[in-house]
Amino acid sequence: MTDASPIVRLRQLRLDRGGRAVLRDIDLDVARGSVVAVLGPSGSGKSTLLSALTGELEPTAGTVEVLGRPVPRVQRELLELRKSIGVLLQGNGLLTDLTVAENVGLPLRTHTDLPPAVLRRLVLMKLHAVGLQAAAEAMPRELSGGMARRVALARALALDPPLMIYDEPLTGLDPIASGVVMSLVRRLNDTLGLTSIVVTHHVHETLPIADHAIVIASGGIVFSGTPVALQASTDPLVRQFLDGQPDGPIPFDNRTFAGAPARQETA
Ligand code: ADP
Ligand code: MG
Repeated sequence: MTDASPIVRLRQLRLDRGGRAVLRDIDLDVARGSVVAVLGPSGSGKSTLLSALTGELEPTAGTVEVLGRPVPRVQRELLELRKSIGVLLQGNGLLTDLTVAENVGLPLRTHTDLPPAVLRRLVLMKLHAVGLQAAAEAMPRELSGGMARRVALARALALDPPLMIYDEPLTGLDPIASGVVMSLVRRLNDTLGLTSIVVTHHVHETLPIADHAIVIASGGIVFSGTPVALQASTDPLVRQFLDGQPDGPIPFDNRTFAGAPARQETA
């Protein structure tokens, strides 16, 4: 495995939910060190795609490789892989009766035998990375929405995962907090040498920090290219999503499957 190999490699992937295909014929390479935006309307299958990367959902067809190897099906190996993937889910998932520092330290206490003083240092370093070292002893209820999101981010970073995945990291945040979180995603990616996959329907907040964007609609990838190429796209499916038009080729009731083959567009 060389550093030039993609950190995530999907080939002819099909993912089903509730007995029907949510995504079909997905091919995707995620380059190491990049920030990739996964965009698409609500219900298009963005979270479903992430669940294949963490091994939570088994593909119906095709292959999923993460960090140079197929996502294992053996539970013990799967738990090992998950330590290498930092996940920030829509709800922050902070435990309300633990302090900020205790929340961030949770993965370290679960997965390592580090002495308390070392653990404490690591926790403070992670909090420093998100600009919240001063909030170490605060309780989650004392935090603003943006601060809570950053604490959850620090916790996702606790085990130094090379790959970060964010599922709708801006939900419920005001524009200022959204800007802070998105620039943090980019800065952490670059300073810690991570790769980041950001799933979102917040196009305008996400594209400025992304190296690569894909748009999911109608069960497939309808665009794959640079943010600049995405903005310039004339594809009706892409335009409908970017411009927020209610009427267009994307069926907003996702039970009616468009059945159009996924198209790829590169810059
Ligand atoms: P997104 O994250 O893009 O909003 P999801 O990946 O959550 O979309 O969902 C994609 C489709 O799969 C939706 O039509 C949703 O209703 C369906 N779906 C998601 N999870 C389940 C599930 N556990 N069982 C059945 N259908 C599901
Ligand atoms: Mg989702």
